[in-house]
Amino acid sequence: MTERKTYFVDVIIPLSIPNRYTYRVPFELNQELELGKRAIVPFGRSKFYTAIISRIHEEIPKDYTAKYIELILDETPIVLPQQFKLWDWISEYYMADIGDVMNAALPSNFKLASETVIVLHPDYEHNSENLNAKEALILDALELRTELTLKEVGEIVQIKTIQPIIKGLIEKRVAIVSEELKAKYSPKQASFIRLADQYADNDKLSALLNELESNKKNEKQVYALLKIVSIIGINTAEQIPVLKKTLVDDDISNSTLNTLSKKGIIEIFSADISRLKDALDDNEPIKALSPSQETALIEIEEHFKTLNTVLLHGVTSSGKTEVYVKLIQAALEKGEQVLFLLPEIALTTQLINRLRKYFGDLVGVYHSKFNQNERIEIWNHVLNNSAEKYRIVLGARSSVFLPFNNLGLVIVDEEHENSFKQYDPAPRYNARDLAIVLGNMHKAKTLLGSATPSIESYFNAKEGRYGLVELSERFGGVQMPEILVADLEKETKQKTMKSHFSSFLMEKMEESFENKEQVILFQNRRGYNPIWSCELCAWTPQCTQCDVSLTYHKLSNVLKCHYCGYYTSPPSSCGRCGSRKLKMLGFGTEKIEDEFSLFFKDKTIQRMDLDTTRAKNAYEQIINDFEQRNIDVLIGTQMITKGLDFDNVGLVGILSADQLLNFPDFRAFERAYQLMAQVSGRAGRKSKRGKVILQSFNPNHWIIQKVISNDYIGMYTQELVERRNFHYPPFYRLIYIRLRHKNETTLTAGSIDLSKKLKSIFKDRVLGPEAPSVSKVRNYYIKFIVIKFERDASPKKVKDIIKEKINVFLGDHDYRSIRVDIDVDPQ
Ligand code: ADP
Ligand code: ZN
Ligand code: ZN
Repeated sequence: MTERKTYFVDVIIPLSIPNRYTYRVPFELNQELELGKRAIVPFGRSKFYTAIISRIHEEIPKDYTAKYIELILDETPIVLPQQFKLWDWISEYYMADIGDVMNAALPSNFKLASETVIVLHPDYEHNSENLNAKEALILDALELRTELTLKEVGEIVQIKTIQPIIKGLIEKRVAIVSEELKAKYSPKQASFIRLADQYADNDKLSALLNELESNKKNEKQVYALLKIVSIIGINTAEQIPVLKKTLVDDDISNSTLNTLSKKGIIEIFSADISRLKDALDDNEPIKALSPSQETALIEIEEHFKTLNTVLLHGVTSSGKTEVYVKLIQAALEKGEQVLFLLPEIALTTQLINRLRKYFGDLVGVYHSKFNQNERIEIWNHVLNNSAEKYRIVLGARSSVFLPFNNLGLVIVDEEHENSFKQYDPAPRYNARDLAIVLGNMHKAKTLLGSATPSIESYFNAKEGRYGLVELSERFGGVQMPEILVADLEKETKQKTMKSHFSSFLMEKMEESFENKEQVILFQNRRGYNPIWSCELCAWTPQCTQCDVSLTYHKLSNVLKCHYCGYYTSPPSSCGRCGSRKLKMLGFGTEKIEDEFSLFFKDKTIQRMDLDTTRAKNAYEQIINDFEQRNIDVLIGTQMITKGLDFDNVGLVGILSADQLLNFPDFRAFERAYQLMAQVSGRAGRKSKRGKVILQSFNPNHWIIQKVISNDYIGMYTQELVERRNFHYPPFYRLIYIRLRHKNETTLTAGSIDLSKKLKSIFKDRVLGPEAPSVSKVRNYYIKFIVIKFERDASPKKVKDIIKEKINVFLGDHDYRSIRVDIDVDPQ
């Protein structure tokens, strides 16, 4: 860009604000201006933020004097034009602030909402020869204070535009912007050690060691040298350098290493490392498809000729993954990138291993809970369309935000899962739906896969919006599991229940153990006895901050709130009437685990739920132990229903089907079906037909009947009628408005007011305000207003009206402290 022109940029700031802001560009930065680069900008009172440049222009803002941007962080853009398009789409569709979208989209090391600071470069060698006076001043300050805010830098050097100084310091590798610490440098570079060439030979090395050992002063050096050689191996001619950190972790001091280096015995150098090391097996050949898989593949490819999206409805264990693998292979051969979305990282362990066996390093895993460096490394590879790594990204929902530039295929596995939807914080997006939008933007193909598709997706397929491919037999001709019901009412009357186990289930478990088969028990509640209750007055201990009963956890002997984490010790008497007769209602996974151990003393049982999988690798460990058959019985919440593939499970027990049916939600039946069908699918894979025992007081419930007959389409057809009659998706679109306030009166009045405003336009499409079943969380009272509108209405118009009404509402002095969240397409 020409030297002396005055440019302005619109930037997105990572805060919940709806607007972009315009800044002026100092001349010296003109050369570096580019869309998608990060700029550090002053915002508010003496704060700095890392913003993204989203437009470059020459228009002077009318309503305010533009401040200058301080610094441009990137040499090349980190966000691509396509991504801005997606961000805008999300912001508009999900009614979210663009700053929130940016926050969701970028790995946190990229964004840094707080004050930006500079720190000493980790590899800085402490020589200040090539610094100018101002840079030297900053260096002195950094050595004293370890970090400086940009404002402080300005104060020290007494000038306004600090950009050239910071830039100089960065280029001379004296300082880095703190977020850059991890983002840019550490994933790439590390210090390594190798033996100097003249000693990389057995004889010379022995001679050297002899010489060193002759002087006791050299003790530490000898030790260090031996250590290095022990790692490098005797064959020093082909030495593989040692990571310096490994030695330092082994109590070899930096000064010893420096001495060895000064003597010319070793060399210390920095080099690229890959942080995502994995112990890879050698690549395995891709499996040949069975005839029915082959047919499915051909049908999918056929649909893709005319449609962008295809739904693959394949029963559990039909081998959907192998079909995906073929499509992935074809995309790779065309040089395209592949995005493979999964609902939760937890379930990827098995899949990662499977895909890595085929595709090795081409598979990258991207997940918000992942180490930031790994995320950034993947981001950069995807951005550069790198050929040797991460052409396939396996990720949870946030991976739709990666900077793809040659995306050819998107796969959404287990597309029915509600965890594709982000609930808090905004943007409340559904990654499955975004995958389709993303695919369309890139002219890529999107394949949704599930054994139990969401009603919405199946409907879209039936309506011809998506291609529909059915894969209705299991791989290897294994039969679908046999599903039997244990009638709990009958067993209770006949007194044959052993605590929560029916005699039927007990008997079948024994049979499985005799056959040396493993068992999975499913109970969709964690904890012990969820609820304590007074036998006399029905009092139950409540959370002090939320409107829920506390759940008992036996191991820690506390009552816990599953909404806010509050806990307290169990009461010895009723909080209302003082009676000491407290009984326990309901049961969770922990209780089942306990009871099981009483009945089957010699069997190992392992629980898998939120409580047992918090530690970093706990989930993998449990899966692995179960695969290795170190565990006889796996008991868990819905975590165990998902996409897992075990080969020795003879029996699955669903302890309380009724619990699943009783959720107050229009999707309850659909979900119950999905959960039960999915968990049943874990039974009898590979060689033998499995059994499922479904315990229920209500065995004739139509959903249970559909599960037993493995009749997805029957479930779909019947459920669709309900949805049509009661104005729910897929016929109507929903928007939830959640209002929260600490003062119940304010909230009630406010929510009625907003509802009236909305009703004035939308009439009876507005429901509520209503309190949800948990009407207070963390001391905030909650109300919901629901808007249902016809599928063919213009969503944009509806949303514009909602926005306007909310703005007017929040302009009201009485209500401006009410928090309003909008959830479009709630799950
Ligand atoms: P789904 O994802 O549909 O539940 P999977 O892809 O997990 O099914 O396949 C079920 C099992 O069958 C897996 O153990 C898988 O390795 C095996 N399998 C599927 N297709 C093939 C094939 N074409 N050749 C060999 N084994 C296969
Ligand atoms: Zn609580
Ligand atoms: Zn009582």
